[in-house]
Formats: sequence, C-alpha cells, structure tokens
Amino acid sequence: MAKYRVTVFTGDYIVRQLTANRERCDVYIEQHFDAKLNDRESDADNYCSVLVAHNASPRSKAIAKTYAAKCAKATGLPNAGVRQVAYGKHGDGNMRHTMMPAVLLESLFISDMSQAEFASSEAGQEMLAQLIVDTVVEHFPDGCHVALSAGHRGQTSKNDPGAPAANGRWEGDLAVQVVAKAAALFRKLDTEAVANA
Ligand SMILES: [Zn+2]
Repeated sequence: MAKYRVTVFTGDYIVRQLTANRERCDVYIEQHFDAKLNDRESDADNYCSVLVAHNASPRSKAIAKTYAAKCAKATGLPNAGVRQVAYGKHGDGNMRHTMMPAVLLESLFISDMSQAEFASSEAGQEMLAQLIVDTVVEHFPDGCHVALSAGHRGQTSKNDPGAPAANGRWEGDLAVQVVAKAAALFRKLDTEAVANA
C-alpha cells in the first residue's frame, strides 16, 4: 500500500534544501505564483509554468511537465510548460542544492484579478493542492517522502512577501496556504492507506 510522508520546510532556501537532502526526501516541490509586475512587459500573463534548476535531472523535468499539464487542464489556462533557468537566475537557488528531483511551481498569474481571486479562494487552493498530490502520486505510485516549501515566506534572513496579488493578497501568503492544504491531503492519503491496509 502506498505510503506518503510529507514535510513542510521553512527557513532560508538553502537550509530547506540541505535539510531535505539530509532527510532523504524523494521529491521537492516549492509553490509560487507568477505575476506580471511591469506594464511594459509584453509577455502574456495567463499561463501555467514550472521552473527547474540549471542542473535539473530528467526526472525533475518530467515531474515539472506533468504538473504544468495538469495545472493548465484544471485551470483552463495555456500551458507554458517547463522552463529550465540558468545558473544563478530567478528560481535556480531555490532548487539547485537538492539531491532529489525539484520543481518550482508558477501556477497562475496573481497580477490578474480573476487568477488572484481563484488562488485566494478555498476551492482554488484545494484544487491547486490536489494538483501537487496528483503529480506526486503519478510519479511515485509506491509512496515517497515529499518535501514541500512555500515560496518567499518563512525565510530566516529576510522578510519576503513575494509578489503582490491584484486583490491585495501576497504571493507568499497564498503559497503558504496551498502548501498547508497539500500537506493535509498527503496526510489524509497516508491515513487512508493505513486504514485500508
Ligand atoms: Zn515567487
């Protein structure tokens, strides 16, 4: 029977990763949201994407690809797929120290009001949490130790709320809520597995 163990890591990003390595976690997932902060940016602001580190393994990329596809399907947003970031660029330091597959979820654009409202709602957060669970279960059907990390909040050396959302919320706070819901879902999965054993 599949068994899932989950640990939510806080502290500075490097500490989270090194601790996850020490605890021999099997997969590392950090929740963020994208935001368009500059009106001059020509990029679209309505897609799902997942970042992987400059040194990402094929496994990391495969997990990222799965999540991006699931997120796009569930939200109806375009799938921008997997983006491998260059050494030292945005997001690389959040993942490059892990020994296990690691992905950084940029699930929606919270600079857009409707996506911000969705990411702030109970139903939206539950859905985003379920996407994390479904992605992990697909890649680790026999169970695993999941490392979860909420982007921005919880760092020891700085107070970082992340990007502002269109509805007045902050990226970091929404990420904390989604991660907490995902952790609860993993624990529920584990309980049910035990109950059915
Ligand atoms: Zn972020």
